[in-house]
Amino acid sequence: MIPVIDLGGTRTKFGLVDKGVVVEAAYCEARSKGSIATHLEEVADLIADLLAQRGLGFSDCAGIGVSSTGIVDSVGASVLTTNGKYDNAVGFDFADWARRRTGLPLRIENDARAALIGEWRYGAGRGVDDVFMITLGTGVGTAAVVGGRPLAGPFFAGGNLGGHIIVKSGGRLCTCGARGCLETEASGWVLPTLIADHPLHHTSALRSIHNPSFKEVIEASDAGDACAKEILAHCLQVWGEAIVSFIHLLGPVRVIVGGGLMNAADRVLPAFRNTIAELAWGALKKVEIVAGEHPDNAGLIGAAALFYDIEH
Ligand SMILES: [Zn+2]
Repeated sequence: MIPVIDLGGTRTKFGLVDKGVVVEAAYCEARSKGSIATHLEEVADLIADLLAQRGLGFSDCAGIGVSSTGIVDSVGASVLTTNGKYDNAVGFDFADWARRRTGLPLRIENDARAALIGEWRYGAGRGVDDVFMITLGTGVGTAAVVGGRPLAGPFFAGGNLGGHIIVKSGGRLCTCGARGCLETEASGWVLPTLIADHPLHHTSALRSIHNPSFKEVIEASDAGDACAKEILAHCLQVWGEAIVSFIHLLGPVRVIVGGGLMNAADRVLPAFRNTIAELAWGALKKVEIVAGEHPDNAGLIGAAALFYDIEH
């Protein structure tokens, strides 16, 4: 049994995973602006309760797996850089904390890479050694497995910064400091700006919605809202073109798409398949594109898999 923690921006998931099976999973409020040490203590207490309900304690477990936002040094078990969430996790000694609090070893991985590891070993990526995953939610998360190994490189950033590839030279200013990143052209967080900047904004039902999500854009589009239709088509095109670029760069045999957008997988995947068929190079037109099998728990499954499926 592996206790697992997925440190997200708005909520922290935690639970117990046994060989790819989520035995327990729960949420608590994230404290991404507060102290990481205080938050981990809080989550450790909640996990101890889950274990106690099963007559278990930390000493019955093999280790603690953590999935974290930011660029993560999975060898040194530390967060190297962040972008506005859990900034004080940088330099925090996660392994030392886990040893003192639980007596267990700890392994930690970037959240997008952990989700891909979960899908690769126990979900939509099973059976292939070259797979790319893109998660479309508030931001755009990416990760890759190349030749049977998660891509990371000496800076541990390999494959993880796909949301910040520049797709529009001189475009909008991104949270990362660059301009025209994929996330500034199409993402959950930039959506209110896309709506406000759209020339048909004044005619759209979207303008009366506070903090709209893609769910509302899809609903408005289906109801005939011209602004919503154009924004949805724009985002699907931008993401589809980016996926073609990632396919050209990494040469995967399968692309997994995850995130909140996949609640509308029947709309999203056919659009991406069309863009791949139109724009991908030669045999790469045949790259499979599929939905993740563990939309809520891939990160937890992957964080646990760090103990038994990944070489370190
Ligand atoms: Zn950026």
